[in-house]
Parts: sequence; C-alpha cells; structure tokens
Amino acid sequence: MSTHDHTPEALATLLAAQKQAFIAAGAVDAATRRRRIQTAIDLLVKYHKPLVAAMDEDFGGRHPGFSLMNDVLGSLASLKHARDHFEPWMAADRRQPFMPYDQLGAEAWVQYQPKGSVGIIGTWNAPLFTLFAPLAYALAAGNRAILKPSEIVPRTAQVVAEAVAEMFDPLEVAAVTGGPEMGAAVSAQPFDHLVFTGSTEVGKAIMKNASANLVPVTLELGGKSPTLIGRSADLATAAFRIAAAKGANAGQLCVNPDTVFVAREQLEAFVVALKDAFAGLFPTVAGNGDLTAVVNERHLARIEGYLADAVARGARVVSSPAEPVAGRRCPLRIVIAPPAGARILEEEIFGPAVVVQAYDDVGEAIAAINSRPRPLALYYFGEDAAEQQRVLDHTLSGGVTINEAMFHAAMHDAPFGGVGASGMGHYHGREGFIEFSHVRTVFKAPAYDPRREWGMLPPYGEHFLAAMEAQVTP
Ligand code: NAD
Repeated sequence: MSTHDHTPEALATLLAAQKQAFIAAGAVDAATRRRRIQTAIDLLVKYHKPLVAAMDEDFGGRHPGFSLMNDVLGSLASLKHARDHFEPWMAADRRQPFMPYDQLGAEAWVQYQPKGSVGIIGTWNAPLFTLFAPLAYALAAGNRAILKPSEIVPRTAQVVAEAVAEMFDPLEVAAVTGGPEMGAAVSAQPFDHLVFTGSTEVGKAIMKNASANLVPVTLELGGKSPTLIGRSADLATAAFRIAAAKGANAGQLCVNPDTVFVAREQLEAFVVALKDAFAGLFPTVAGNGDLTAVVNERHLARIEGYLADAVARGARVVSSPAEPVAGRRCPLRIVIAPPAGARILEEEIFGPAVVVQAYDDVGEAIAAINSRPRPLALYYFGEDAAEQQRVLDHTLSGGVTINEAMFHAAMHDAPFGGVGASGMGHYHGREGFIEFSHVRTVFKAPAYDPRREWGMLPPYGEHFLAAMEAQVTP
C-alpha cells in the first residue's frame, strides 16, 4: 500500500494479502521474527529525529528529551526485550498425557502458534509507544501487523506511515492513516487479533465491531487511576513523586495519577508539598519548553470545563505555579475535595489537573476506589506493610506501583494491561507473547488402543457400567 492509498477498501485488500502470505509461509522461524523486530528497531533509530520533531509540532510543544524517553526509548525497550527473549518462549511445552495413555506411549505438548495478522490502533498521547510496544510482542509471536496511528497527531502519523512503507514489506508490517472512520474500518476487518489503545467508550465500539468477525481483542483503555497516601508515607516524597508524574506529558498519560486520597489531617500539608514540588519542576508556564502542551483546543476546553464545573460547585483550586494558562501550556491545577456530582470526579482527567480527597479511615478510600470502575493503575504510598497488603487485597486495578507512580508500566518483564473498564489482555513480557499466540494443545496417540480390550467401546459389555461407577469417587 502506498502512503497515499489509505482507504478502507485498500485496507481490506492489504489484509487479505497479508493473511494469504501468512498461510503460504507456514511456520515462522526465529530468524524471521528477529529480522522483523530488528526492522522496527532500525526504523525508530533511523527516523527518531523526524518523529520527535513531528510530536513536538503535533502537541504544540513537547520536549524532545521527553519524546525520546517516552516514545522512542519506550518503544525500543519493548522491541529489544522482545528480540532478546522471545526464542525460548517459542519452544513447545511438554505436557503430561492422562491415564492410562501416559503409560502407553502417548505424547502431548502445547505449541505457541502465530495467529496471523494483528491490527494495532494507537492513541495520540503516546503515539509511538501505543503502536510499537504491542508490535514488539505481535512480531515476537510470529504475526504480521497493520498499524493505525492516531489522527490527533497527524504529522507523527504521516512520518510513521512513510517510515513503515520504506522499511517494511507491507505483507509483513504496514501502516494506514485516518481518523475514527479508519479506526472503525480496522475494527470491522477480519484480523486474527486486534489491539486497541484508547478511551473506554471507543473501546466498546471497537469490541462490538470486532465481534462481527469474532476477532479477539486486547483493549488498553484508561480510567481514573487512584493514588492512596497512607499515614505512614513520607508526605514530601509522595508529593514530589506525584508532581513528577503529573508533569510527565502534562498528565496526558493513561496511568497518570488522577485522584489522590490523603489523611484528612495531612491534606493541607500535602497540597502545599505538591504545589511546591510541581513549581520546583516547572517554575513558569508561558514558554516553558519542559512543559508539554495540552494536545489541542478541544482537550484544553475539556479540562478547563471540568475545572470551571468544580469551581462553580464550590471546590477550591490551587494552581502551581500560580500563573495562568499560556497557549495550551498549563499550570497543575490541584482540585481540593470537589463535591459529589462534580464532573472531575466522574471523567478521566487525562491532563494537567489532579483531585485531592480527604479520608479519615483508609477503608473509606478503599471503598471510594471500589465504588468506581476498575482503574488501569493504582498507587499506594506508605511504609505500613499491613496497610499495603490491605490495599492490594481489597482493590483491583490493571497494575500497581508502590511508593512511586507509573513505574510498573515500564516493566518489560511483566504484563501491562487493564481489568474491567480499563481493558482486557496485555502486552510486555512472556504474557505479551502468549497474548498474540494461539496456545494450541497437541495430543499424539500411541499405537495401542486399550479400549476394546477393556470393554470401553460399544457394544458395551456387562462390566462397563460398573467400571465407570467405581470411578465416581470424591
Ligand atoms: P480515542 O479512543 O479517542 O482514540 C484512540 C484511537 O481510536 C485513535 O486511533 C482514533 O482514531 C480511533 N478512534 C476514535 N474514535 C473511533 C471510533 N468511533 N471507532 C473506531 N476508532 C476510533 O483515545 P485517545 O484520545 O487517542 O487516547 C486517550 C485515551 O486512551 C485515554 O482514555 C487514555 O487513558 C487511554 N490510553 C490508554 C493506554 C493504555 O495503555 N491502557 C495508553 C494510552 C492511552
């Protein structure tokens, strides 16, 4: 597919050709998988400068160092981890055949087979990571893939499409550009697996579309990732680490801390510490190149809308630093104890604002977390081992970081994904390889079939029923 030919019809033709090539090729050996992963690595190395420049332009201000760290290096780390670890994952697993066939020479194993072609739909907030991190594990598992970057970052999407077209045979990996209509087209195609990263609402539409072809889905969605600060936490450290997380991509990250629960008597001290920590990292707003801009006017209006609504309902809002929004660069707005019904308590913030709520007993914070859909991430700060275990045992979330925020998402050797409303399935680690593999059981029968001799085949003899009855044991 040329980079000018991105239509749903061309996509259907391309996918059919990829699927045909997959069938024709048969088993995908390790060398082929390694070559494909290496091509993706080489692509990012070759194109990292235009990609970083495109992300800066698309956001209207995103520090090149941050884009390198988050998107280029984040993707490279996933690709390299997959490249350097997938080979032992490919090996078939011997399994124990059942009695009495285990005594008669039967064999059994589990084979990890590529599924075919994987569709990967990405977001704007981490425009490379949400494409190339799942791609790493899809390729490691021996699949082919078609990427669909987000239209909200059009220059980045264009560079991705051009780079993929230059570096890959489209029968192995291709990219298609376009907006929601192309996302819908991808999800309506008979891919062998679909990875969607994005909002929970669009995730539902994707799953519905995929159901028409029974396409299995990995949904990497969002949600209001809660942060619980226990009384045993070092408040200054917690505040600093939360400030650093809120400053990353201006809070436009799926695992960003959204609502912070803090003990009532520590609330004011925490707000001051958070305000000071954020202002220490970002002393100014206007023209501060370290501060990522909110991606577009629509998202800025969305976040400002939540803030105006909270203020109208009587919530106190503290700005750090105490400066106005400049263009689309924003101070961190700390929204303190907004009343029930406030929109900022309902919607994922996904931007440079944070809610702080007070609790008297940690059980109230746990109950508040459990009253909401299951989040993508959960953070606990504290040194109280029993309380930490209580939080882990009584909540569910995609992942957890303790005494930091967001770090679990950077683990290459462990799965990353959501649960409930924050998604299903995962990539990273061996679990990511399995996600994109068909786990196929193979049973090889022995030459000797004992059933006739043991009276287990019709016409049934007189002992058959009694022999079966005798085995119904507790
Ligand atoms: P989005 O759901 O608006 O868009 C994601 C992708 O879906 C884009 O490629 C878009 O073109 C496509 N799309 C949009 N509408 C569509 C439709 N009706 N049918 C089919 N495709 C459609 O999400 P976004 O604004 O790009 O990203 C923000 C959301 O993504 C947040 O909720 C965030 O938490 C989540 N997110 C999750 C992860 C994760 O790994 N779990 C990572 C990044 C972002």
